[in-house]
Amino acid sequence: MQITAAIVPDRGMPFEIQTLDLAPPRAGEVLVQIVASGMCHTDLHARDGYFPNLPYPVVCGHEGAGIVAELGAGVAELAVGDKVVISFPYCGECEPCRADHPAYCVNGRALKSSGRRSDDFTPMSRGGEPVYSCFFQQSSFATFAVAPAKDVVKLRRDAPVELLGPLGCGLQTGAGAVLNVMQPRPGQSFAVFGVGGVGLAGLMAARIAGCDPIIAVDVLPARLKLATELGATHVLESRDAETLAEIRKITGNGVHFSLETSAVPAVFRLAADALRGMGTCVLVGSARAGTEASFEMPVIQGGRVIRGVVQGDSKPREFIPRLVDLFMDGRFPLDRLVTGYKLADINRAAADATSGATIKPVLNLPH
Ligand SMILES: [Zn+2]
Ligand SMILES: [Zn+2]
Repeated sequence: MQITAAIVPDRGMPFEIQTLDLAPPRAGEVLVQIVASGMCHTDLHARDGYFPNLPYPVVCGHEGAGIVAELGAGVAELAVGDKVVISFPYCGECEPCRADHPAYCVNGRALKSSGRRSDDFTPMSRGGEPVYSCFFQQSSFATFAVAPAKDVVKLRRDAPVELLGPLGCGLQTGAGAVLNVMQPRPGQSFAVFGVGGVGLAGLMAARIAGCDPIIAVDVLPARLKLATELGATHVLESRDAETLAEIRKITGNGVHFSLETSAVPAVFRLAADALRGMGTCVLVGSARAGTEASFEMPVIQGGRVIRGVVQGDSKPREFIPRLVDLFMDGRFPLDRLVTGYKLADINRAAADATSGATIKPVLNLPH
């Protein structure tokens, strides 16, 4: 079938809207009519060539949300017409997958950024030439996408699918780091460093968990204002040692939990230094290979934990419906983070995400 998609013609080039061919779903796959797709910084890293094995031309997009349009052979748990979010890919067979931690799949990186299925197939093409199109095994900057059925999460029928694509990656990353990994008790202290989409999702989750105080640190005053509206009890403009002193003043002796979303080494250090004894710092910001950070060794004495978390360590078919229920109950107001764009305005959406003018762009696909 013919589809409309935003392609990156070559490394570092702007997105272009083109008509492409899409192969039908194979066994174990589904065709999804994409209603809207979130844009994540990872899509822009892909555009800019940060993934060494990603070929071009490529279609990015990995926060697709839409309606199931066709089932491949053997797909029993989904039906045509289901509202769905497409989440991250995993192999289902490696040690982390078998231990129920698919976010740490040893084949995850290849599945996300090789541009192909694991058997080298590329569902999208143009004039018979392949267009690399399995970004996170979905490539959702397109009117239709084919994805492995197991990566597709069915939503409740009353869910506003046009808003929910970001649950597939960015928002489950922040919320899962708090609800699945930190699991704070009510009254424990929490600080988030960087309040973009991931950080604000973590902040909303900390509020759901009953954390107090909830401290937000960022450089953009507009974001700190939104953080206050979403539940931050204190907001701090990031100023290194001064920020640390403020956090100690608010908490007595540091926070129980800190969430680092910026991937900036100096901010990571601040998030580690802000911990009290036995506190846990979770790093979710994705730094480029070769980025180094340092902290004083005594920081991890006193039982402190500094760890990384991918995709909120979530099992999407359990966690995303739970976040949708929280959203529908008004407790996880992700609509406050989302700004809609037409697919044709994708380069403006990317520029706004980079400048910070928009927290979470969502591209609405034309039909
Ligand atoms: Zn695996
Ligand atoms: Zn992402």
